[in-house]
Amino acid sequence: MSAPDPVVPVTEVLIGGGGTAGWLTACFLARTLAARDAQGVRVTLVESPEVGIIGVGEGTFPSIRGTLSNIGIDEARFIKECSATFKQGVHFRHWVRAPGEPGADHYFHPFSQPSQRPGGFELLPYWLNGDAGPGVPFAQAVTMQKRIADASHAPKRAHDADYLGPMNYAYHFDAGRFAALLAEHGRALGVRHVQAKVERVELDGAGAIAAVHTQEQGALRAGLYVDCTGFHARLIGDALGAPFKSVQDVLFVDRALALQVPYPAPDTPIPSYTISTAHEAGWTWDIGLQDRRGIGYVYSSRHTDDARAEQVLREYIGPQAQGLRPRRLELQVGYRETQWVKNCVAVGLSGGFLEPLESSGIGLIETAAYLIGFLFPYDGAMAPTARLFNDLMRERYARIVDFIKLHYCLTRRTDSRFWIDNADPATIPATLRDKLAMWRSRPPHRLDFVTDLEMYPPSSWQYVLYGMEFATGLRPGAVDPARIEEARREFGMIAQMAGRAQADLPLHRAMVEQMCRKAAGGRSSRQVA
Ligand code: FAD
Repeated sequence: MSAPDPVVPVTEVLIGGGGTAGWLTACFLARTLAARDAQGVRVTLVESPEVGIIGVGEGTFPSIRGTLSNIGIDEARFIKECSATFKQGVHFRHWVRAPGEPGADHYFHPFSQPSQRPGGFELLPYWLNGDAGPGVPFAQAVTMQKRIADASHAPKRAHDADYLGPMNYAYHFDAGRFAALLAEHGRALGVRHVQAKVERVELDGAGAIAAVHTQEQGALRAGLYVDCTGFHARLIGDALGAPFKSVQDVLFVDRALALQVPYPAPDTPIPSYTISTAHEAGWTWDIGLQDRRGIGYVYSSRHTDDARAEQVLREYIGPQAQGLRPRRLELQVGYRETQWVKNCVAVGLSGGFLEPLESSGIGLIETAAYLIGFLFPYDGAMAPTARLFNDLMRERYARIVDFIKLHYCLTRRTDSRFWIDNADPATIPATLRDKLAMWRSRPPHRLDFVTDLEMYPPSSWQYVLYGMEFATGLRPGAVDPARIEEARREFGMIAQMAGRAQADLPLHRAMVEQMCRKAAGGRSSRQVA
């Protein structure tokens, strides 16, 4: 039996890396630990400007609003400084069937929950029963959000409080500017910022980290080390050797080409959703920021080559791609099953990377930062905290893998090997196969999900499932004949309310500009039309 780890109270946290993961964790810990500062925990962040940040990661999930609010950043300032826009969901094109094939070629994953009648009367069985009318897509039948986003309206009004609005929403933003804003905010919260390159990690006799050695500042020591060095994984990977579990047998894309495309005119409308378009060997993201689009193609190197991938990306963008050179990234797809080892915990890309289809990357950073703050081992007893953290994060990753695979495995596309392989049951995790088997005879229910472990709520699963035209047969009794009329009236009311909400909600670009003026100390935010 190995000797128990020494228990020394933790008074210093050293975060290695200053990208989104590093600074978001630093801000979160500075806020959380300062609020419970009984033992005076100090947070230091060391980063190497020479190495730099990955600089992608522009789409988020609604949880980001709670995080930004928790760390104390003003919403208007965030929007102005990060070139941010609102995101109300994801518009998926050509995922169900290939271009040119008969049938719907797109669907929407909105962030707002389906409307629910008082008394827990769910509309889903009635939609499955055809009570929303022939051919009305699920997301359109049960929420107003798709119509609002399609009509270029924002999810909130100028007089709504910070981070609140009638529609659920997240943001698109410039990753470089976001890290810079977080750095400024983190320093204001008391985070010590050290610019130095980690050259070597020293381990003690028990295999824990004793010090991090830098070129410029010598040895840096702490009670807890947080590895946010991105794909480099200098601490958790290089020094501690935490194994990496690849999930490439399930999720195939492992390369990305990314470009920034200026708008043709300053008043070009900005969609308040990410556009995700499926192609022969992967998919493109298309994200509208205030002054440019961020566009990238993520693809499988086993199903295409880099030259063809660049051609696909250029064809997608059209003439505006002329003269632009994409950045090429190689992706390690998977995660470490033990993300907390001894006195070191990984956050961000050092802990894992899953393709950015539903913005899980920043969501996972938020979860990890929250858990570290909540479980913080003040007394130095790392092992129990590490076990719990590892269990929670491992489960969360596994469920996200299933959710992302759901987008692929229901495809009807057979136009390329990539899509045929994606629908092959051998590439679908057993946990997802089980769910799909059950959902053939009954719709998904919240009991299918242990919600504390899920990043995506049951409604997100439903939007993707039925967007992909999954067929659920209804059991006898699933629909109450006495409530069919009530359900039909509700579907009609949602459509009517969407019209009224549009009159109430400002246009997306106008609302973003108003927030920027508010941050700059201009006109009051109440003045948006
Ligand atoms: P990085 O940004 O790489 O930061 C690493 C830091 O470590 C840097 O500061 C660097 O200087 C420092 N560092 C490294 N080595 C050393 C050293 N030796 N010494 C000192 N410092 C060092 N997520 C989403 O939520 N939504 C998206 O839309 C999305 N899109 C993505 C698209 C692509 C193509 C990729 C690859 C990822 C995407 N992600 C997305 C994930 C997201 O980009 C990351 O989760 C996020 O940027 C966090 O990165 P990071 O901070 O872990 O790493």
